[in-house]
Amino acid sequence: MTQQGHLFVTGAAGFIGSAFVRKALEQSFRVTILDQLTYAGKMENIIEVLQPGLCEFIQGDICDFALLEHLFSREQFTGVVHFAAESHVDHSISGPKKFIETNIHGTFALLEVARTYFHAIPSHQEWKKTFRFLHVSTDEVFGSLGDTGKFTEKTPYAPNSPYAASKASSDHLVRAWYHTYGLPVLITNCSNNYGPRQLPEKMIPLMITHAVAGKPLPVYGTGKNVRDWIHVEDHVAGILLALEKGRMGHAYCFGGASERTNLQVVHFICEVLDQVRPRSDGRSYADFIEFVEDRAGHDFRYAIDDQKAVQELGFQRKYIDFEEGLRQTIGWYLQTLGSR
Ligand code: NAD
Repeated sequence: MTQQGHLFVTGAAGFIGSAFVRKALEQSFRVTILDQLTYAGKMENIIEVLQPGLCEFIQGDICDFALLEHLFSREQFTGVVHFAAESHVDHSISGPKKFIETNIHGTFALLEVARTYFHAIPSHQEWKKTFRFLHVSTDEVFGSLGDTGKFTEKTPYAPNSPYAASKASSDHLVRAWYHTYGLPVLITNCSNNYGPRQLPEKMIPLMITHAVAGKPLPVYGTGKNVRDWIHVEDHVAGILLALEKGRMGHAYCFGGASERTNLQVVHFICEVLDQVRPRSDGRSYADFIEFVEDRAGHDFRYAIDDQKAVQELGFQRKYIDFEEGLRQTIGWYLQTLGSR
């Protein structure tokens, strides 16, 4: 297969970025990864796919202008896919500074270097026409829904947490770099992801790892908050479609069409674990659910209408049945925890 192009991918030692790199390599892209390896980045997520000339890893900070300039002067990137971010809402509440630095200043640095690079590509080069800067963002920029309605690309921004506000700011910068400087950008706004390799600070892996360790299962507030869960592989397939077929300057929403309350998800995890890893004392894992003080400014409900992605990109989910996808994910964690 001929090579599709050379992507510069930030934050690919994390949960979603590492799944993206696997899929991009399958589709014959060459990849250069830039990741700072914060607490959230793990070499074990990418070590198997690194290969000279095909998939290269560089440890560094997206806020480091000099490093970015050096990398962009050295290679001919045909696209940028930007995952690197501080991504945990709770950390953004206890310490927002890092979120402003990485998510806003880091995106600014990357946009500036990509802009200079893009404008210097000679117009006869084929990839001048196809170059894209794809910014991976979240549905949390839209704020919170009531019992009805869904987010679309036209929903006004109304971020409620420092994390969501920092992502919203970065989306606005990306949009402005298109309108002001003609950088060919795309933005994707996706709902909550689940799947292998997610850090155990996020709800699904947290519940699995706590349950297996015999610890309480902490659920915020009443557990009635609703999230629309998408499998990480469906998300990264959507990103690749957007890269290939997305209209320049446009945003695309991706969702999982799987709205569940947090409590439903936790109960399902307990049910599966009761079957496949019963507790030695015969009790159900659900007995260990503990309701804890709600997160400040906790958004009630997120849901995505992804008709634009379906119609324009041909986006289709492989993981239609959330409970089946979650069962597989639980299996992956049990196997991984067991082998440690
Ligand atoms: P993650 O926390 O698992 O990974 C983030 C990665 O970025 C890590 O590898 C980390 O080392 C790296 N990183 C952090 N700061 C950096 C810096 N200054 N320079 C270079 N690398 C840095 O996050 P994730 O869940 O994989 O999310 C990836 C992207 O997708 C984020 O932009 C996030 O906002 C977005 N997103 C996530 C979800 C979700 O459900 N997890 C949903 C929608 C959108």
